[in-house]
Amino acid sequence: MTFPIEKFKEIDTPFYYYDKALLCQTLDTIKAELAQYPDYHLHYAIKANANMDVLREIQKAGFGVDCVSGGEIQQALDAGFDAGKIVYAGVGKGDWEINLGLDAGIFCFNVESLEELEIINTLAGAKNKVAKVCFRINPNVGAHTHANITTGLAENKFGIAMEDMETAIRTAEKLDNIEFLGLHFHIGSQILEMGDFEALAMRVNELQDRLEEQGIMVKDINVGGGLGIAYTDPDGKPVPDFKGYFDTYAKNIKLRKGQQLHFELGRAVVGQMGSLITRVLYVKHAHVKKFVIVDAGMSDLIRPALYEAHHEIQNLSSKEPEETYDVVGPICESSDVFGKGETLPACHRGDLIALRSAGAYGEIMACQYNCRKLPKGYLF
Ligand SMILES: *Cc1c(COP(=O)(O)O)cnc(C)c1O
Repeated sequence: MTFPIEKFKEIDTPFYYYDKALLCQTLDTIKAELAQYPDYHLHYAIKANANMDVLREIQKAGFGVDCVSGGEIQQALDAGFDAGKIVYAGVGKGDWEINLGLDAGIFCFNVESLEELEIINTLAGAKNKVAKVCFRINPNVGAHTHANITTGLAENKFGIAMEDMETAIRTAEKLDNIEFLGLHFHIGSQILEMGDFEALAMRVNELQDRLEEQGIMVKDINVGGGLGIAYTDPDGKPVPDFKGYFDTYAKNIKLRKGQQLHFELGRAVVGQMGSLITRVLYVKHAHVKKFVIVDAGMSDLIRPALYEAHHEIQNLSSKEPEETYDVVGPICESSDVFGKGETLPACHRGDLIALRSAGAYGEIMACQYNCRKLPKGYLF
């Protein structure tokens, strides 16, 4: 990626830079892949990045949105997304959030418990509306990713157990203000092994066969998201393998006639187009090592501290011979480290540093710890 460094000089660091050309290239790739599969629908997982300018590009591409809170539903509506393409998941939906979804007329609530189903029925009844629901089923399918971002195992808090699926559907069918649409799954995030998605597709087939034997028809299947990105090679693999991903489902999942397949990709859509741009404050020569202290910290990008995540670090200002540094932020936590033993062209105060592949779960996870300012995001 070539960075527009001249423009960066006008912006206060730290900030997120979103490469518009790469975002559009990614969206075009997804559109081209989906064009072969008219029954497939993408709902962008807005929790990955809810920057308004980014959302408008995704909205223009014609995709829907996957939300996990009322705030996200509102943000999606504000960005101009069609409520009829919004799906809404979450283990703890509050009354005002359910009411917002009902008033907006969202496509589907992805219901995670029978307790929640009853409340949605009551709230919909009070409005004389019918809420469309899918049940989020916990498929007990593991994903080869970090333990904090697997969601589809029996031990996780998400979804309804497979053995309770029929009871949930039978209950829904009896409720006046609920329309049952189908099944929802989401096994985790940053998944690069297509075999994990294949395992989910197989599990969906099994469950469908089981339902069919009992005469239960399912209109919609939602397989969630989770496709990963190449954190160690952002320039070599700027666009994730969407072809491999959709083809894996096409090859393995057995859709019934008229059935629609939904996806909820977040990270894969926005991850590689974003970088956190930060400035070197000090190069500190300590006894055992050298530290590059930058003006961004874990409050701006928490993934390394939270998941031991790796982001490629690039010095945009120096072409000098390389040296080895720990790159750290200014925050009063030992985990405020972006990289240890990084080889970078010799760093100096004022150099611009890019933390790559930070478009997903970056800006949106920023907080004000240490009374810091929130970083802004710029798309150009
Ligand atoms: C987070 C989430 C997603 C998106 O996950 P990615 O790994 O970013 O693709 C999709 N569906 C649900 C229900 C989620 O919670």
